[in-house]
Amino acid sequence: MPATGHVLDNALDAVGNTPLIRLDKIRSREGIQCNLLGKVEYMSAGGSIKDRIAKRMVEAAEKDGKLSPGKSVVIEPTSGNTDKGYSVIITLPNKMSLYLYYVQEKEASLRALGAEVVRTPAEAAWDSPESHIGVARRLQREIPYAIILDQYENTNNPLAHELTTAPEIIEAVVNSSSTSSRLSSGRVDAFIAGAGTGGTVSGSSRALKKHNPDCVIVAVDPKGSILAVPESLNVDGSGESYIVEGIGYDFLPAVLNRADVDTWIKTNDLDAFAAARILMREEGLLVGGSSGSALAGALQWLKSSEGEKLASSGGKNVVVVLPDGIRNYMSKPWFLQMTMEAEPSPLAKQIACILKPT
Ligand code: PMP
Repeated sequence: MPATGHVLDNALDAVGNTPLIRLDKIRSREGIQCNLLGKVEYMSAGGSIKDRIAKRMVEAAEKDGKLSPGKSVVIEPTSGNTDKGYSVIITLPNKMSLYLYYVQEKEASLRALGAEVVRTPAEAAWDSPESHIGVARRLQREIPYAIILDQYENTNNPLAHELTTAPEIIEAVVNSSSTSSRLSSGRVDAFIAGAGTGGTVSGSSRALKKHNPDCVIVAVDPKGSILAVPESLNVDGSGESYIVEGIGYDFLPAVLNRADVDTWIKTNDLDAFAAARILMREEGLLVGGSSGSALAGALQWLKSSEGEKLASSGGKNVVVVLPDGIRNYMSKPWFLQMTMEAEPSPLAKQIACILKPT
């Protein structure tokens, strides 16, 4: 349903249908000829690409009779989520345990929506009882009518992207090729997304390959994570920890079908946060860290021997998924540091000069 020109029945109707926005400033600064398009997911009702899968997993469970309103308790191990009138418990890894005195934005938003939040130590291995997954399982065993919808294994996770994310992208690209004066191949030629559960990249790949069998699917994995193929890519930086949230794991989620991915790119925090800053400063898009990873990965790939042909072809459409916004990270040191640049701008110097006490 289009989000404009209608009165929507509730916030769930404002999930997805996010805009595809030209990243023209970045395109010119990088000297790329192809169209660089950002799928801006923070414009979804809950502020994240995860809105789509939360909605689909809950609705599918309702259809299967696995959820009874007023009775069921939905438990989800995650790095962010939305809910739909059920009691909800979220188990959330404490990525920033060193900075406990900072407000934890994700936790605050989830609590504002009425969810219970249980923090778990970030350093716990995924299969330990202390991890966000282990704690969710322990709670499920003890709480009556508790259900884990399990984004890591639930086929409705990639399906949400196959049926919404990718079709929205295809429709926008196809429509704009006939309505815009900008050069366009009329197809999606490459798709770049970070991999967490892998739902975005696997589900979108299935729809995009049907639309254009030559569409190149590029997945981005942070250094220190083990999702990339070939395995040798994961060796450099293995054991490295990364603070970008939402992507990368120390296990292979079942919904990630690595056969759906053509190429993997590894990124580091520094490049990711620098790219997030460019998205903010140059494109006016207040994105989170994993959006920076996706852009950094996209630019790395477009400069590689494999991607440079596409990069230099006018009209080719390269789509980068920007999964969430800065709302969840406003108090994180990487963001605060970014906003307080070492070297004051000429305008800042001028302001200081005008306001200097005489
Ligand atoms: N970025 C953010 C901020 C996320 O929360 C997620 C989901 N974990 C991703 C990227 C990756 O999406 P997916 O799980 O579909 O691979």
